[in-house]
Amino acid sequence: MSDTPSRDFIRQIIQDDLESGKHDEIVTRFPPEPNGYLHIGHVMSICLNFGVAEENNGRTFLRLDDTNPGKESKEYVDAIKRDVHWLGFDWGDRLTHASDYFEQLYESALRLIELGCAYVDSLSADEIRDYRGTLTEAGRNSPYRDRGVEENRDLFRRMRAGEFGDGEHVLRAKIDMSSPNMNLRDPAIYRIRHIPHQNAGDEWCIYPMYDFAHGLSDAYEHITHSLCTLEFEDHRPLYDWFLDQLEPPHRPRQIEFSRLNLAFTVTSKRKLNTLVDEGIVSGWDDPRMPTIAGMRRRGYPVAALREFVTRAGVTKKDKLIEMGALENCVRETLGDTAERRMAVLKPLKVVLTNYPDDKVEMMQAMNHPAKPELGTREMPFSREVWIERDDFMEEAPRKFFRLKPGGEVRLRFAYIIRCDEVIKDESGEVVELRCSYDPDTRSGTGSSDRKVKGTIHWVSCQHAIDAGVRLYDRLFTVANPNSADDIHAVLNPESLQTVDAKLEPALGALAAGQTVQFERLGYFCHDELDDSPTSRVFNRIVTLRDSWARLEKQAMQQQTQAL
Ligand code: ATP
Ligand code: MG
Repeated sequence: MSDTPSRDFIRQIIQDDLESGKHDEIVTRFPPEPNGYLHIGHVMSICLNFGVAEENNGRTFLRLDDTNPGKESKEYVDAIKRDVHWLGFDWGDRLTHASDYFEQLYESALRLIELGCAYVDSLSADEIRDYRGTLTEAGRNSPYRDRGVEENRDLFRRMRAGEFGDGEHVLRAKIDMSSPNMNLRDPAIYRIRHIPHQNAGDEWCIYPMYDFAHGLSDAYEHITHSLCTLEFEDHRPLYDWFLDQLEPPHRPRQIEFSRLNLAFTVTSKRKLNTLVDEGIVSGWDDPRMPTIAGMRRRGYPVAALREFVTRAGVTKKDKLIEMGALENCVRETLGDTAERRMAVLKPLKVVLTNYPDDKVEMMQAMNHPAKPELGTREMPFSREVWIERDDFMEEAPRKFFRLKPGGEVRLRFAYIIRCDEVIKDESGEVVELRCSYDPDTRSGTGSSDRKVKGTIHWVSCQHAIDAGVRLYDRLFTVANPNSADDIHAVLNPESLQTVDAKLEPALGALAAGQTVQFERLGYFCHDELDDSPTSRVFNRIVTLRDSWARLEKQAMQQQTQAL
């Protein structure tokens, strides 16, 4: 795995700024709005902002961009802090909020009024929209645009004092109603909203707009490089305009990079919110969600997420990355670290007719085939064992090397068995196999060197632990659900399947949140939240092989144009 990210265009700019002496310390910020949980796209932004600072002995602020009360909450603030920490980044004493600067921002707005660069507009929201014009048509000046400084100052103070209702007035920057860039057509910088704020309480009834608050907060924190996604490119002239007028002692520079989009999922907080609100998923941390909380619960290791965004790279080109690329990072990380265990997901009972009724043997099972230093564990073996239903076929093709009537197979770390009899219920379903074992073939110690082609996993019936195992699939049926008109129409109804599984007893000791490989089945994580006294819950993190690769590629080709 690569540990130093290669030099992308942002890292190059930063390097140049250090070498030219423009800056001697790099200061960045990660500025989420606390209106939802962070997702895989944010992982990219977090790793970039904290990463470039770390690489240059700089500093990073975690700034909650909370200028939009009503949609924001303490729950989201707490989740954001937990998630950034979990990814391995530390903001030290640099946890800030845009709302920490409300007083300074208010003073800056007053200053703009005094400079003749801002005015209080008393048009209604509809009128303002009407006056703004269109992409092909210039806007018109508001009749209130030429209010004098005194009047503006007085009205703005009274806006703050709560003398007016929501929408009665707004403070606007006085720029250019005929600018081809709509963002420069006298954008609103303060609006009246009589609602309390999750951090500032009910101290304010006017709130600054994002564009105004963001650049100035960057300036107050001495941010050197303000890194954001491409949709803010058209806002950069406005970002710079505020700085030009107000001339703060520190001038940050905005640089845009492309968003990371992951196929077969959505990375918009609004859409993720819909999934949660409508109960389509069990919560923000449902393991199918592309949220950091969901991926953590699913069992994705931090190292895999960080490796994934490193590979995705920082560019200016929009990209839709295959889910398989993320899953490959997860597989690579877990393949090295996860211990092996046995579990049977679709159990079929095997009775070993020639094995003594009350006998139990302890089999030595390796914890990792390539890492003897991870040691062994004991697996109890007895007369009745569970095997995987799919490992038996009654009418088997010639090349089926698992169990079939009259055929032989090795039970891993145990004996070779032969299928003598198939027991069915009234409906004809196979419910049990009667087999015999060959006592000379015990793994490691057997006197016979007899070999069979197939080896399957098993769990002793009397020692098995019951578990509900959740098997996940893509949440959506199309590669780019972001572009679907109605996300309900593209939901995958089979994204979650729960099976009643049987686990080897060693899995009873596995702590919550721990990850293992169930041999031949994939990587699984013991769920922290849903265990009951009688049953454990495991989530499948990822299968062993990418069975999706071909299908997914096809779907992606059809859909990338839709971006
Ligand atoms: P959403 O559309 O999900 O609401 P957002 O951009 O509004 O996302 P913010 O909380 O404002 O969410 O994002 C915080 C930071 O994360 C911003 O700097 C934003 O540019 C960055 N970011 C958000 N989504 C992505 C993404 N998909 N890829 C890379 N960076 C992202
Ligand atoms: Mg945003």
